[in-house]
Order: sequence, then structure tokens, then C-alpha cells
Amino acid sequence: MIRFWQKRFGEGLKTESLEFDRELEDIRKELKSIVKKRFASSLAIRMVDSGSCNACEAECSALSNPYYNLERLGIYFVASPRHADILLVSGVNTFNMQPHLLNAYEQLPAPKWVVTLGDCPIKKSFAIKGEIDKILPVSYHIKGCPPEPKDIIKGLLDFLRQI
Ligand code: SF4
Repeated sequence: MIRFWQKRFGEGLKTESLEFDRELEDIRKELKSIVKKRFASSLAIRMVDSGSCNACEAECSALSNPYYNLERLGIYFVASPRHADILLVSGVNTFNMQPHLLNAYEQLPAPKWVVTLGDCPIKKSFAIKGEIDKILPVSYHIKGCPPEPKDIIKGLLDFLRQI
């Protein structure tokens, strides 16, 4: 046991020091200011998985961690489409999920926007309904497979600049 602690103290800390990402910081600042101005610091997103592999959702979950901390910018993921401004859609639009996706869109109060996430929503195949922009008015697409949290934040900022 003593040898274990001697080795531990001898080696010192092994964790990496957090790199400061200036670009991310600038994006966060602009995003926060747009959300404050246009949405009174409260932009709600309802995410619908229309048949994804779950990697896109995992990247979105990272947006709530203390590093990306989207809630601090006034952007929230909500459980009900009735409380949402944006419908964020991931996945390939399967036959089974399409009615639920359309139903969720119907429940969003106006004004409402659809943003697609990842490469799946624009895929075509005989096995799926495919191409979400054929059934919903998609305002913006965030590409990637999966898009990293920073890409998602960048995409949201780009989308908000356009509306
Ligand atoms: S875009 Fe890629 S990561 Fe996202 S759901 Fe589709 S296959 Fe998974």
C-alpha cells in the first residue's frame, strides 16, 4: 500500500489540463446574445429520434455537460413539443416513426422551425421513408455523422443568424 502511494505521489497528476477554445467561446457569446435578444433568453428544443443509431443523441447529451453548458446560454431541451420553438430531428425517418414525427411537429406552437441533425435525415433507401425535408419544412441542416457538440452549437448559431 505504501509503495502504491509513493508511486502515485512520485508521478504527480496525470490528467490533461483543459484547453481553452477561443473559437467556441466566441460562438457561445454570440449565441447567448442572439437567444437573449430574439427569445428572451429561453430557446426550447424538442428532439425527436426518427430512427437513429443514438450517436447523434449522445453528442446532444454532451451539450448539457459543464464544458458546453448550453443551458447557460438560454437553450433548453424540453420533453414536450408544446413547449418547444425548434424541432430537432435525427435519424432516418423510419416508417414507424413518421406519424410520431408529424404529430410532434403539429404540436409545436407557431412560430416553429425544423432543424435536422446528422446525415441520416437526408438519406434515401427503400427500407425507410427517408428525406425528412420531403415531409416537413426543414429550415436548417446540421451535417456530420455524428456532428460533434461544437458542430451542433455552430449549426444552431448559423441557423439563428438566418431566421
Ligand atoms: S447521422 Fe450518423 S451518428 Fe447520427 S444517427 Fe445517423 S448514423 Fe448515427
